[in-house]
Formats: sequence, C-alpha cells, structure tokens
Amino acid sequence: MDIAKFIKPWLLGEHEKFILRNARIVDPTIGSVSDNITVVVDGGLISAISPGTPAENITAGVKPENDLNLQGKYICPGLIDCHVHIAVVPGEANLASYRDMTEQKSLVRQPSVLKSMLHRGFTSVRDCGGASLAMKEAVEEGIHPGPRLFIAGRALSQTGGHGDMRGSHDTQPCCGGVVSGISRIVDGVAECLRYARDEIRQGADFLKIMGGGGVASPTDKIEHLQFSDEEIRAIVTVAKNAGTYVTSHCYTPESIQQAIRQGVRGIEHGNLIDLETAKLMAETGTFLTPTLVVHAIAQKLKFLSPDSDRKNTDAFHKGLAALKMATDAGVTVCFGTDLLGPLHFAQSQEFSVRSQVQTPLQILQSATVNAAKLLMQEDRLGQVKEGFLADLLILDSNPLEDITVLDQPEQHLLAVMKDGRLVTSGNALGVSISQKL
Ligand SMILES: [Zn+2]
Repeated sequence: MDIAKFIKPWLLGEHEKFILRNARIVDPTIGSVSDNITVVVDGGLISAISPGTPAENITAGVKPENDLNLQGKYICPGLIDCHVHIAVVPGEANLASYRDMTEQKSLVRQPSVLKSMLHRGFTSVRDCGGASLAMKEAVEEGIHPGPRLFIAGRALSQTGGHGDMRGSHDTQPCCGGVVSGISRIVDGVAECLRYARDEIRQGADFLKIMGGGGVASPTDKIEHLQFSDEEIRAIVTVAKNAGTYVTSHCYTPESIQQAIRQGVRGIEHGNLIDLETAKLMAETGTFLTPTLVVHAIAQKLKFLSPDSDRKNTDAFHKGLAALKMATDAGVTVCFGTDLLGPLHFAQSQEFSVRSQVQTPLQILQSATVNAAKLLMQEDRLGQVKEGFLADLLILDSNPLEDITVLDQPEQHLLAVMKDGRLVTSGNALGVSISQKL
C-alpha cells in the first residue's frame, strides 16, 4: 500500500510525455520565430527541440492524445507577472472596505485569483506582499491550480509609510513588527534586521520594502522618502546574507537613487523617473517593474478614496512617460500589474497599455526573459529551450507582430502548459487541446 497517496491525496501524478509537432517557436531573446519545430516535453521539462518530424525513438510510448500536431500554431514561453498581490482578493467594491477583510476570507478566495491568472497565461507570478508560504506550497503540491509563486511574505514599511493603513486621526499605538494588511511595520535598524530575518524564516524568496510614498496609503505623500539609509542597508544585508535581494516601492528619482545607493536590486512602479535616474538604473543593472494598468483601472472603477484618486491620476500619466524614458536608457524592464481586489481581471491589459510606448518584443521580453532574470530563474524559466521548465503557451497569433493578442486570452490563447502539465484556457475550459487545434 502506498501510504503517501493517503497522506497527501492531492499530489499530482507522474508527468506525462508530450510531443508538440509542427509548431512555430517564439524566441523572446532575439525576437525571432522558427517554423515547423517539434517540441518534446518529458518529466515537466522541455527535453528536446528539433526541426521537422521527430525520430521514432523519441515518440515511442507517448499517449496518442499527447501527440499533438499544432498545425503552425505559436508556442511562446509562459508569462511572468513580477508584481501581484494575490492576498488582496476580489469581493469588495473599494479599497476602504478592505480594512474589514480577514485573513481567513482572503485565504479561501486566493485559489480563485490564482486559477484566473494561470488561465490568462501567467505561469509564474512574483507576489510583492501578502502571499504566504502555505499558499505557495499548496500550488506546488497541486491542491489547487495556479502560477508558480515567488513571494516577499509581508512588505516592510515604516510607521506612517506606504504599508501603514491607519488614518491621521487614528491614535491606536503601533508598531514593532505589527502586521498591517500586506505589510509589516518596522522602525529602526534593530526592527528592520529582526523582521527582515523573520520574513526569510517564513519562506520569503526576496524582500520588499516601501521606500517611498504611495497612492493608496492615507497619510504619506508620493514624494516622501521612507526609511533611513541605515534601515534600508540593514534589510539589504539580511537579503544578501540569505542569497537573495531587496526590491523597493519607489515613485520618485530621490527614493530610487536612495534605494540604489543602499544596494536595492529592483524598483517597483518608478512612475516619476527622470533621465539621470534612468541612466543610473541602467548603469547599475537595477530592474524596473512598472505597474501601469492598476492606475488606469482604479480610476475607471472608482476604487480609491478621492485623495488617493488625485494621486493616482497624476501617477498614471507620468508612468507611461517614465516607462519610455527607462526603456530608451537601456533599463531592464519587467512586467507587473499590482492589481488589487476587484481589479485582478485587468491583468492582461497591461500589454495594451505598454504598447503605447514599447515595441512588442520589448514587452514580451519584460514578461519572459527579463522577469526570469529578476527572479534569478534565467536558467529554467522565460524561454522555450531544452532543459527549461515546460511553461508554455499555445497561441493562434504571433505576439511579436501584435502584443495585444496576449490581452485577449479568450480569443488567442489555445492552451497553457505549466510544469509540463496541460491546462486548457479561456472560454474553452473543458475542451481538449486537440479539439481546439
Ligand atoms: Zn504593489
């Protein structure tokens, strides 16, 4: 008797082998497409890629339903969203209502958020505050479907910073590591060291700090610097000692420059970047993860308070210009969305928003190879390449010609494969891939 099957009855079975014939392979490293390629997926990995028809010894033993002729359809690497918050789940109409959202309510709703991300083609996501190790492991083990998670645990914020959701008239004492929504409030080098270490202990893959003011927080201004140099340096030391990195929520040139000087490796948002800062980011190899769609959608759906909404409108208009400036300066740009609550549905619209200022290749790179580098996974994610994890999208159109096909998964995304397992997508849920080809 195999007792393991009873201890964790949800564990996924052995990986099946797949042959994907007559495919067009999209290579985001150089922006090329190669025709009539056979891709072999075995053990969850891309085990072989070859032109034309595969040799018989390669196809032996493959189940007929896993031997697929793609008839010239496109295979693109699975998408990576580098800035999500899966813990801020749908269910409330505006941000104010989220003060009453309990952790239990959030937890039971997170699987639905994860499943919808996977069905939009996101096979990996980086959670910048709120996701737990338990949820990451639940996806890995197959309790419920979702993208592979890379988590920050709780984002670290100073008192009165972007993670402190108390209003000006709230006299409740704080803080010393107290958890506030998706953040933890820490002040002084000692608390920064202690709670950064605690996030690592609780499974954080990287650390996120609130390095400047934000849109949704009630008592800070976007132009505020947050944390002292010493505090940031302390958190960076903890990350480096644990073999990982810090990314910082920053809008202004001052906050970005402060972060870079203290050894921060990634910048989130960056909506107010100027030329000098863009050049500094390029020189130092600092990653930028803009999140533009959240501003556009939050405004449309009146998700924010009037005060936050004013900050938001300004941030959106400047954010597009900042993305262009950073791209032109040679900064490594990653794909991010930052959608909260009822706004998650708009995740793929980030592709269309960016297409106003970036080429399709630049946008596809941001959601594949650049994102994989930021995640320190460039040897196994972000490309259709032998030895890489089989995270693949099957598309009926070429995203390098029109990137907005990724914004319409119901029409163009025929299937998602994550970790060598096939997930059908969009409206065609429940329809087998061979029926769709
Ligand atoms: Zn965020």
